[in-house]
Amino acid sequence: MLGPVILAASRSDRMRRLISAAPGTRQVVDRFIPGETVDEVLPIIQELTDRGLELTMDVVGEDITTPEQAVAARDAYLELIDRLKPLDLGTRAEMSVKLSMFGQALPGGHELALANVRPVVEAAAEIGTTVTLDAEDHTTLDSMFAIHEDLREEFPQTGCVIQAYLFRTEADARRLAANGSRVRLVKGAYKEPASVAHQDKHETDRAYVRVLRTLMQGEGYPMIGSHDPRLISIAQELAHRAGRKPDEYEFQMLYGIRTDEQLRLAAEGHRVRVYTAYGTDWYGYFMRRLAEKPANLRFFARSIVTK
Ligand code: FAD
Repeated sequence: MLGPVILAASRSDRMRRLISAAPGTRQVVDRFIPGETVDEVLPIIQELTDRGLELTMDVVGEDITTPEQAVAARDAYLELIDRLKPLDLGTRAEMSVKLSMFGQALPGGHELALANVRPVVEAAAEIGTTVTLDAEDHTTLDSMFAIHEDLREEFPQTGCVIQAYLFRTEADARRLAANGSRVRLVKGAYKEPASVAHQDKHETDRAYVRVLRTLMQGEGYPMIGSHDPRLISIAQELAHRAGRKPDEYEFQMLYGIRTDEQLRLAAEGHRVRVYTAYGTDWYGYFMRRLAEKPANLRFFARSIVTK
């Protein structure tokens, strides 16, 4: 019940100001977002890769309001890529981007987002890695998929995300599996109406398995974005049945969540990529993490009260 309330708060400026200023917030934020600057996050990248994990890097931010902010977002990614270059990690460190941060919701937003994301994809390719387009709320997805298709003409490794809770996703998965795309499948983290999305967790889980089967049997590269132990073992079984080798799919989890499981899967020989977010505009990302697990909210509330 709390999840939708927290997701609604994630879009409120008043709540943003209150929560950002509360003493004790920082300590909880740190669990999910290990730094605000490239300098703070580079040692984390080194540490995770040393432990056999791979990364997808997210410079946090979304719902910007001016074209200048979109350019700043582009530049933040370009700086990160520039700093990654000497580490020579190749695809072990890729980027995840939210097109809303690149201007997608502004007037002329589709073209603006494409113009801002393209240099990031080009720079990533120059250091031997790639970019995945995150999925945001359902109203943004037609534009995201069109940008994905456009970028893939020159950079076929560009990935995208699909969300199991949306009714449209089974058809999207069939299309992406047939055209050989890299696709991250997640349950979905936004507050969506019953007209477009399953509201029941079990329905979403069942849809996740159906979509995963399509991806595993297809021509593309499935990225299983989930911490759910049941779905992780179903994914292993489906990969096995589809005759996929360990380098023909990967698991992805968020930084700070089920780290032991990330290391266990990697030790078993699976590719495991950690979605690592950093930056100053962490509010939306942080609130979605609270909404996913009520225990996080209790921990958060306690840390504020005891400060
Ligand atoms: P759940 O059933 O929510 O969780 C299973 C178990 O995992 C829980 O019991 C708990 O032990 C643990 N867990 C899950 N979430 C948390 C948490 N926040 N804190 C502590 N423990 C937790 N969503 C989008 O809409 N668009 C995206 O582009 C997107 N990208 C993602 C990228 C990655 C790599 C991952 C892992 C998730 C992404 N998500 C994205 C979020 C996703 O949609 C889910 O909201 C999130 O992954 C929780 O679902 P779950 O599959 O882990 O299953």
